[in-house]
Amino acid sequence: MVAVLLAFFIAPVFTNFPGGSVGGVEWLAENHVRISVEGQANHERRNRQANWYYFRIDGYPLKELRIELSDLVGEYNGRLGTHAVDESTHPVYSYDGITWTHFSQVEWDAKQLRLSFRFTPERSPFWIAHTPPYTEKEFGVLETTVEANPMLRRESVGKTVEGREIPLWTITDPAAPPSGKKTVWLMFRQHAWESGSSWVCDGAVRALLAEGDEAAALRRMVTWKIFPMADPDGVAHGGVRFNRSGYDLNRNWDAIDTTKEPEIAAEHLAVKQWLDGGNRIDAFLTVHNTETSEYLEGPASCRPLVERLHKILEKETSFNPTRRKWQDAASTTSPGKKGGMTVDQGLSAEFGICAMLMEQMVARNAKLGGFPTVVQRQQFGGQLVKAMAKAFE
Ligand SMILES: [Zn+2]
Repeated sequence: MVAVLLAFFIAPVFTNFPGGSVGGVEWLAENHVRISVEGQANHERRNRQANWYYFRIDGYPLKELRIELSDLVGEYNGRLGTHAVDESTHPVYSYDGITWTHFSQVEWDAKQLRLSFRFTPERSPFWIAHTPPYTEKEFGVLETTVEANPMLRRESVGKTVEGREIPLWTITDPAAPPSGKKTVWLMFRQHAWESGSSWVCDGAVRALLAEGDEAAALRRMVTWKIFPMADPDGVAHGGVRFNRSGYDLNRNWDAIDTTKEPEIAAEHLAVKQWLDGGNRIDAFLTVHNTETSEYLEGPASCRPLVERLHKILEKETSFNPTRRKWQDAASTTSPGKKGGMTVDQGLSAEFGICAMLMEQMVARNAKLGGFPTVVQRQQFGGQLVKAMAKAFE
């Protein structure tokens, strides 16, 4: 027997850019690559979630490639065996890192729990990700666009585990008297994989700083306090849902620790100082992504406002609730155990403010006619701030 050494061309897979992430790469044939998803677990090595991948392939010929995503199984809120990626979550590709297109067809292997899809690239290199990425690069583009606007004030409320600044942006018309103004706090991107949250933020900021009467009214009526990037470390590293110390930044609002979760501590202090300074908070909203569900929830104590906002969003925007109506939030995600409070649960309990949480799906949204695009997320950001202002009328 003569040993035959089968050699074939292997195109390199890169993740050396903001938000880049894969677990491992295995070429099974020259037109078939298996990519394991890195996933991220918390400080107790629990709750592994594996739904962020973002990579570039260089030098692959312009012919069909089969890409298979593996190692997708993890745990959610202590429930083992969960997986966020399946046939309802179609990856996106791009040739320039700016314009992203969803793959129209995928195959889900329910036994092996692997997602695969076929791609015939028209150019090289190309990028592939779970959802259209939004990293410090895209955030930098937004900052450059709006930084000179006199209606915007930017500050940092503290530093992350790795020393990155935690931004807080204030948008309002300084000439309009504060006495008649409402105050709305918005928070985006507590979880690194949820780039859709950031695209909504991007659109909201652009809408609030736009020219024209409608935007001017939004700035006269409301002081907008915005945390645009609540987990900058996670976003830079291509993380999933825990900070660099392994803590979920949308839990632990009842177990704040300046060392383990400096991000929560800094955001919490900013809210507290605002209130201690004699200011009001009429509404707070944190915006998240899930794979297939979309909803708004808030505390029972401000049910009329939550219900009104839900109605406006349902009627006038692309918000497409998968629950039949708005819902009272639970007081924690882990009854009897500290560390389970989300930001809205924590702020409602501690300060009695109307703090809400919104989830938006990354799967097909019938109201949008397909998978949410970057432009549709940005448009929703504008719709969201208008709806919030309207809910106060
Ligand atoms: Zn989230």
